[in-house]
Amino acid sequence: MRVRFAPSPTGYVHVGNVRTALFNYLLARQRGGLFLLRIEDTDVERSRKSYEEGLIEDMKWLGVKWEEGPDIGGPLGPYRQSERSELYREYVDLLLEKKMAYHCFCTPETLEREREEALAKGETPRYSGRCRNLTPEEVKERLDRGEESAVRFKMPDDKDFHYPDLVRGDLLFDLSLFGDFVILRSNGQPAYNYAVVIDDHLMGVTDVIRGEDHISNTPKQIKLYEAFGWTPPRFGHLALVLGQDGSPLSKRHGATSLNQFRALGYLPEALVNYLALLGWAPPEGEEILSWEELIRLFDISKVSKSGATFDYQKLNWINRKHLSQLPSEQVLSLALPFLEEAEYIEKGRKLSPDEQKWLVQAVEIVKANLVTLADLPKELELFFQYRPDEALLPELREEAVSPLWNFLEEKFSGDSPITAQEFISFLQEAKGKGIKGKALFHPLRVILTGCGSGVELDKLINLLGAPEAFNLGLKRRPLLLKERIQEAKGRAGR
Ligand code: GLU
Repeated sequence: MRVRFAPSPTGYVHVGNVRTALFNYLLARQRGGLFLLRIEDTDVERSRKSYEEGLIEDMKWLGVKWEEGPDIGGPLGPYRQSERSELYREYVDLLLEKKMAYHCFCTPETLEREREEALAKGETPRYSGRCRNLTPEEVKERLDRGEESAVRFKMPDDKDFHYPDLVRGDLLFDLSLFGDFVILRSNGQPAYNYAVVIDDHLMGVTDVIRGEDHISNTPKQIKLYEAFGWTPPRFGHLALVLGQDGSPLSKRHGATSLNQFRALGYLPEALVNYLALLGWAPPEGEEILSWEELIRLFDISKVSKSGATFDYQKLNWINRKHLSQLPSEQVLSLALPFLEEAEYIEKGRKLSPDEQKWLVQAVEIVKANLVTLADLPKELELFFQYRPDEALLPELREEAVSPLWNFLEEKFSGDSPITAQEFISFLQEAKGKGIKGKALFHPLRVILTGCGSGVELDKLINLLGAPEAFNLGLKRRPLLLKERIQEAKGRAGR
C-alpha cells in the first residue's frame, strides 16, 4: 500500500486537510504501507515556497512522518509538481498520439459565451466540443502559426459510470454531463485532474483518501487512467469538517490552521487524537487514544459519510487529558516558549538545576488546571501575585480569624520559605493555641493562595517565596510568604 498527502502550498494548512493526511497516514501505518508527501504547486500565482516550508514544519511537529517527499527525496520523485513539467508534457503527447486528447484553440471569450448560453438555457455548462473534430492539417497549421492552445481530454460519455468509494460506497455518475476537460493549459501548466493522475500512477499510489470536494473529479481521473491503460487506485472521500453552524470550518469559527493550534499551546498528540475522532468513532468507546492505539483501531470503512463538526470544547477536553498524562518535566519543557513569551524566563536562558526543580514542582501543582500549554504563565501567577477571589475576603475579616492572623505574622516574618515539615509543626502549634477547624484551614488557604480551593497546602507551601524562584531572572518577582500575608491583610482591610 502506498498513500499520499498532496497539499497545494497556497496558504497555511487547514485542519480539514490535516485530518485527510492523518487518515492516510494511519492507514499506511496499520497496513505496513508507505506514506508520501507531494507538493501540488502548479498554481504558480498562488503557491508560495514559505507555505510549503511551514507545512513541512507543522506536519513534523504533529508527528506525521512521510517516507518520501520533497524534503527527503525518494525513488519516485521529484515530489514537487513544479519540477515534473517534462513528465506531464511527455504523457500529453502520448494521449494526443492515441487521439484521446486534442488541441483546443477556443479563446476564454468563446468559452465564457458558451457557458452563459448554457446557463441561460438552464443547462449545466460543459465544453461544446468545438475543437474536437478539427482536421490534423488545420491543427498543424494553427499551431505553426503560433496560435495559443490548450489540450483537452476526450471524456467518454458513459451514462451510468460508477466506482466503489472506500468511504461512501458505490457512486454513480452520468458522464455525458462532464464534457472534454483541459489537461494542459495554454500556458503549459498541467491541470490538477491530469497532473494528479500522472503523479499518483508514477508514484505507485494505491489508495487515494481525500476531501469530498474531489468526488466529482474522480470520474475524470479514472477515465484518464483507463486512457493510459493503467489500473486506477482505490478512492475514498472524506466528508468536510464543519463549524458549529454547519458551514465549512473557517476563520470565523476560530483557529483553523495547524500553526494556529500549535501557537495556542495544543499538544500534537491531542490534536491528532481529536482529528481522528472527526468522522470516526473508536470501537471500544474510549476516546483518549495514543498514536499506537489510533493506528491499531482506526478503520477507514467506518468513517462517517456526513460532515463532522469541529468542537473546540471537545478538543480542549482532549488536550487537557493528554496534558494531565504527561510528566511535569515534559509539560515544563514544552511550555518554556510560553513562559519566555510571558517574560517569566529570559529567552534562551538555560535554567539552573534549582530553578528547574522549582518550576517542575510548580507545574505539578497547577498542571490539572491547564487546558493548553499557553495557560501555564497565567496559572503560575499564583506564585508571583496575590490576587484573591473578592468573594472570599469577608471571611478573612471575621473575628474568629484574628488569632490566625496574629499567629501567621508572628511565625512567618522572615525572608525564607518554610518546609512542609515546618508547616506541619505550625499547624500543630496553631491547634495547640486553639486555632482550628473553620478558623484555621480555609482562611489559611485564602490568605496564602487567594483561592478557596486547590492543591493541598503542604504540597505548595515550600514553593511560595522559595529562593530558587527569585533566581529565575524573571521580570516578575515572586512574593515572599510575609509579603503574601501583608497583601492579604491589605485586601481584607484589616
Ligand atoms: N492538491 C489537491 C488539494 O489540496 C489534492 C487533491 C487530491 O488529494 O487529489 O485539494
